[in-house]
Amino acid sequence: MVIRADLSEGNSVSKENAMAFPGTLFHETRHSEQRFNVLRYVEPNGWRFPGVNAPKHAVDLARTSPPNSDSAARIQAKMMNESVYGTGRARRAQVMAMMDQTGSASNQAVPSHGVESPQAEAAWFEHSPWYDAYRELPEEADAFKAGTKVGLMWKESN
Ligand SMILES: [Zn+2]
Repeated sequence: MVIRADLSEGNSVSKENAMAFPGTLFHETRHSEQRFNVLRYVEPNGWRFPGVNAPKHAVDLARTSPPNSDSAARIQAKMMNESVYGTGRARRAQVMAMMDQTGSASNQAVPSHGVESPQAEAAWFEHSPWYDAYRELPEEADAFKAGTKVGLMWKESN
């Protein structure tokens, strides 16, 4: 997981960024958990690690802890595996490419917005015609659910 240095290593933080940080952190942490569960997932014909750029120790740990056959972790891992590496791969690639184009366009239009305001960047992405498709990708829907829940808890307690 990579957290932007300007959000986590500065000497100060805006209230806006401080309020958004926990939700973002949990969103990205959920993606890490998803990827680990994909590593743990065993297809009926055996292990497969398609294109997963994971450290050896994570792969080794995953191989020693496959999810139980009827567990929620296995069901989720199967769904994430299909979305990212299986039948959903082409659709996911298309959506992510279109979101990248939106990002490039926003960087040209407002060169400094990404550094100064992650919220401005998020607002720009939300205007992309592909944003709904992005949010509906299984791995994103799951991560947004986790991040939103934590973000709301954080805002209610601050
Ligand atoms: Zn995400």
